[in-house]
This record gives sequence, C-alpha cells and structure tokens, in this order.
Amino acid sequence: MRLVNAIKNGIVIDHITQGRGLTVYHELKLDTIENTTVLLMNVGSDHLNKKDIIKIEGDFHLNHEILGLIDTNITVNIIENEKVVKKIFVEVPEKVSDLIKCKNPRCISHTDDYARPVFTLVGQNGELQYQCSYCEEITKVKFK
Ligand SMILES: [Zn+2]
Repeated sequence: MRLVNAIKNGIVIDHITQGRGLTVYHELKLDTIENTTVLLMNVGSDHLNKKDIIKIEGDFHLNHEILGLIDTNITVNIIENEKVVKKIFVEVPEKVSDLIKCKNPRCISHTDDYARPVFTLVGQNGELQYQCSYCEEITKVKFK
C-alpha cells in the first residue's frame, strides 16, 4: 500500500464522489499522459462515505474547469516533497469556453471555425445550465 499512498511531487484529486473517479480520469485524458497515475475507487471504511481518489505523479497541467463541471466535492492537493503545499476547492465555473458544445444545431459555432462561444452559467438546479454567447440557447451539462 505504501506505493499507492505515497506521492513525492504531484497532484492528488481527493474527495471525488464515489463512482465519478473514472469519469474524471477520462475527462482529464489521464490515459494519454506518461505520468504515473493511480485511480483509487471506493476508498474509506465507512460504508456511507466512500470516495474516489486520483493521484498524478510529477508535472501535470490540471484543468480545474473540467473538475468543476463534474463534481464540486473535489479538493485538489498539490504535493511537494510528500507534503501538501496547497489545497484547492473546486467550484462550478461561471464561464466556460472549449468544454461545452452548443446544443442548438443551427448555432453559428458549429459551422464557423472562428466562432468560439463562451458559455455563461445561468442555472445549477441539480444540473448545470450554460447559455451560449452566440445564440443564447441553454445547454445542460452532464458528464457520465
Ligand atoms: Zn449557440
């Protein structure tokens, strides 16, 4: 277990809601990088409070927006020399650009390569709702 637990320098994505670890893993495209990564699922002895954890050894540019869209329970720990030097609480992003596609099929963003819509958070009632800056259509965001 020591190998799994200890990380010298890198990132620990902690408190992922149980069952969402794999989604986070795929959305961050961790299967395409060369860093040592560990995905731990169903961690914790308390039956009701199990969680998933992802550890990434070494340098990695973490996209916090993606995490915010998937799961706001997440806390990110930055590890240096085996110590937590920074703790980041993930929040739902107010504005998102590249991660969402407009659901309106006639939206200019689908046909014009230069039209890069900015989506603004307009609702988070159980699911996240983002409004397109071009056509004002509301797109619901759901990762699974
Ligand atoms: Zn649109």
